[in-house]
Amino acid sequence: MVFECDMCKKDPKSHSFFKYCDEKERNTYYCCPVKGTNTNQEGILNHIKGVLDENNGKKWILILDFKGYSIKKIIEISNSIEIVKLVSREEYNSLLEQVNIINSNNYVKILCNTIKPYVSNDIFDKVTFY
Ligand SMILES: [Zn+2]
Repeated sequence: MVFECDMCKKDPKSHSFFKYCDEKERNTYYCCPVKGTNTNQEGILNHIKGVLDENNGKKWILILDFKGYSIKKIIEISNSIEIVKLVSREEYNSLLEQVNIINSNNYVKILCNTIKPYVSNDIFDKVTFY
């Protein structure tokens, strides 16, 4: 069964988190935080959880595209913290191999430094900036 997010069904631009590439060994997921137009936290978490639950025990890689990320987005930091907390859960993090950040800028670095104290595990060790 393919997960369908109710909010994205109404407006496909609501969230930007999807499976980008399906390979034998691992799946690659893509997320562009700026592209998601709906900032409702519960909706975002529900979307990500739904998509990741379909991964079903496969290793995965996350590409985080921060194209266009600005001070306007950094004020939604509580959403970012909750997303990182969700992905840090054992069921997801244990299969997560890499987080590749592309189109980074100074705001992204501020964001990462702000989130770090809220996340107790090794998820930041998997992050590479490109
Ligand atoms: Zn959605």
